[in-house]
Amino acid sequence: MKSPRFDIDLDKHYKATVVIACSACGHENRHHLASLQPDSTLACVCGSDISLTAYGLQSAHDKAAAIKAAYHINAA
Ligand SMILES: [Zn+2]
Repeated sequence: MKSPRFDIDLDKHYKATVVIACSACGHENRHHLASLQPDSTLACVCGSDISLTAYGLQSAHDKAAAIKAAYHINAA
């Protein structure tokens, strides 16, 4: 299964949010990074299943850490 495209956002509490674009309809699905489990399946509004592999989730964590480092944020 190919990994969906995703982006990382920090909310006003500096919590990392993963923005995953649905490969079927392009809808952006937002989930808190901390609540995502590897290979768990999320349902898009269009009914398609979206899942982030363990590798994809790890790169999401790496990306979030890099963003926090860039902003000098130490909050977990
Ligand atoms: Zn969709």
